[in-house]
Amino acid sequence: MSGRITKAAVIGAGTMGSGIAATIANAGVPVALVDLADFADTAVQRMTKQQPSPLVTKSAARLIETGSLDNGGLELVADADWIVEAIIEDVDVKRDLYRRLEDVRKPASVVTSNTSTIPISELLVGAPETLVPDFAVTHFFNPPRTMRLLELASGAETRPEAVETLARFADVALGKTVVRCKDTPAFIANRLGCFWLSCAIAEAVDRGLTVEEADALLGRPFGIPKTAVFGLMDLIGIGVYVHITASLDRLLPEDDLWHALTHKTELLQRMVDKGLTGRAGGGGFYRLDRSNGSKTLNALDLGSLEYRESSVSLAVPVELRELVEQADRYGECAWAVASKTLAYAAWLVPEVADRVSQVDLAMVLGFGWQHGPFGLVDQLGAGWVASQLAAEGVTVPESLIRAAARGGFYDHSGAEKRELAVDGSLRSVPRPDGVLLLRDVKRRSEPLAANEAGSVWDLGEGVACFEPHTKLNVLDLPSFELIEQTIELVGADFQALILHTEADHFSAGANLKRIHELVVAGAFDEIERFLSAGQRAFELLKRAPFPVVGAPHGLCLGGGCEILLHFFGVPATTETWMGLVEPRVGIVPGWGGCKEMLLRAFARPSAGGPIPPVRQVFELIGAAATSTSADHARELGFLRPDDRVTRNRDRLLADAKAFALELADGYAPPEVVMLRLPGPSGAAALKLDVETCALAGGISEHDRRISAGLTRVITGGDADFVEPVAEHAILVLETAVNLELLATEPTVERIAHMLTTGKPLRN
Ligand code: NAD
Repeated sequence: MSGRITKAAVIGAGTMGSGIAATIANAGVPVALVDLADFADTAVQRMTKQQPSPLVTKSAARLIETGSLDNGGLELVADADWIVEAIIEDVDVKRDLYRRLEDVRKPASVVTSNTSTIPISELLVGAPETLVPDFAVTHFFNPPRTMRLLELASGAETRPEAVETLARFADVALGKTVVRCKDTPAFIANRLGCFWLSCAIAEAVDRGLTVEEADALLGRPFGIPKTAVFGLMDLIGIGVYVHITASLDRLLPEDDLWHALTHKTELLQRMVDKGLTGRAGGGGFYRLDRSNGSKTLNALDLGSLEYRESSVSLAVPVELRELVEQADRYGECAWAVASKTLAYAAWLVPEVADRVSQVDLAMVLGFGWQHGPFGLVDQLGAGWVASQLAAEGVTVPESLIRAAARGGFYDHSGAEKRELAVDGSLRSVPRPDGVLLLRDVKRRSEPLAANEAGSVWDLGEGVACFEPHTKLNVLDLPSFELIEQTIELVGADFQALILHTEADHFSAGANLKRIHELVVAGAFDEIERFLSAGQRAFELLKRAPFPVVGAPHGLCLGGGCEILLHFFGVPATTETWMGLVEPRVGIVPGWGGCKEMLLRAFARPSAGGPIPPVRQVFELIGAAATSTSADHARELGFLRPDDRVTRNRDRLLADAKAFALELADGYAPPEVVMLRLPGPSGAAALKLDVETCALAGGISEHDRRISAGLTRVITGGDADFVEPVAEHAILVLETAVNLELLATEPTVERIAHMLTTGKPLRN
């Protein structure tokens, strides 16, 4: 491999192989996908229909060329710089494939295996010598598009430059967080994760706990997703888990603590024999019973293996230390799982990785833990954990003794988070080049301005960052007040502003709760003030004398989408879901969303007369279309063709900052645009579309009213325009139409329903 990956190949088109091929295609890199028979072809067809899809757009599938190994398909990998093997977890079948690969692959290409458990030293037994320097492991997690962890292990003889090229490609192009592992069985996350799961199952079963009790204990207090242990087993699949544990039984050294666990294999095997294999198999430790026309959650009785209705009313302390010190079987179970798992993790360093932060990162990204095992030790108190283990007669791992002496595995006192290294020194937790994290900035500085809705941070080099921090980052009057204050502050002392948050979602839009309260109170003057405050804030951002750059991730809905539409440049992550979903709550975009979409539609070279762009906006907003990726957002027009996609979320802020600085040089805000709108005659044409849809039974009476409102806004209202109008005229219409819609009962019902259920009401 010459340092660049311009073409890749994946062999094995099952769950992982097809997902990996899609992830490579999503990055715009051509990839061959081969399997036996016509499996690769079928897999690609399936992925284009799957929801959620592994592909960021349907057109990304065109970059995947499929082939059959039965029909010379292996030739397709001949010009690939990187070949990923993702076939069944059988060492002999894998070795056989590697031998065949040597006849076709180009010199200096790199071959990696996606094995979950088998170390390179095992995989390469009997391999051609030429393969050895070109071989590594790239262990993706399922599903490969969204799971950010990639474990990268290299063998003793793997070419370092090939590993670096792979790591860079996986990080920048595929958006993965690359965790370097040693070449040991199951690498990091599965090694520790399986130990934790097996240990938890055994401790719970031995104490006669129900699956719900165990999950309540072993989930939240540990900062672990609520699927906890048994729920997670169902997701993994009981049969798959049994297979992985058998592999670990075979591969782990005899003195490994893994072998001291009682694995309850008999229980798991009985479940598999009964067909209770987990979610994909229709039920495992839990099952959703739909037999009575409603959904009831059932849980498995671990003795009889019969289902009963799930119930748990266990009051569990939120504090982990309080839980593990609780003097009953719940506290004992929690301590047994914590002490064994955390001690095992401590033994694994430096065997599986040189740094404790890498082990923590693997568990955070691979298993969704909020803190890794070493973060948990620090939470409990490293000295306390060590003394408890010693008091129980357990040998205390050396790394834990060191941590106990220094007060923990991590040091948070300075500007940078530091970790305890194997040699006893404190070292900065590493950040790859080109990664800028807001949480690091926040650790070492005070906000420039802040209120309950957000904070403003100094990112250096004259760039400031506005960070919203309400629940789901909903926008409200305090947000607008802070935006206005920020604009003054940035205008005086900075060159550019970025809007960014490290929360899961950029913004779910306007504070619906406030709108509901105001509507119920009949405070329509206040609603008007709320609408105009948003319009004013977004307008100020748009016309600021410095560039404002949005850097979103996750949901950007309603007002959260509208704010972004006002900026010239938006680098977004792959997982950016944008939509003007206002009609779902009975209104139309009211903070300039209609206006901005019209401006975009009219600016297209192929816009044609006034009707086609207006119809395009009508269809998009009327359907409340939401993108399922940033690439899709670009297709829908929420992102411009020039807006960039940052694949790796950790790189988003740095990319946004570089982009903002590029724009700042000679920046001039956009000028006010005059629009030639079609007026009532255009509205009549769109009304016909709505009526056709209504005849087909597709919309309700209230949908029709919302459509009429939307039509009025985007066609320019009642006046027959002879002359073009300034874009701001649309804002006035947005407000008028929303005030009318908010005064209707069905809109109030839609808002109330969304607030209570999180789902749209079709009324
Ligand atoms: P899978 O069973 O879904 O797919 C395996 C594919 O390999 C099948 O399409 C099969 O036709 C193909 N295959 C079998 N023998 C072959 C051969 N000789 N030549 C070419 N193709 C062959 O399996 P999967 O879950 O995608 O796992 C693939 C690899 O990824 C395994 O090594 C597994 O341990 C690893 N892995 C799986 C997961 C997971 O969650 N499923 C996660 C990480 C790693």
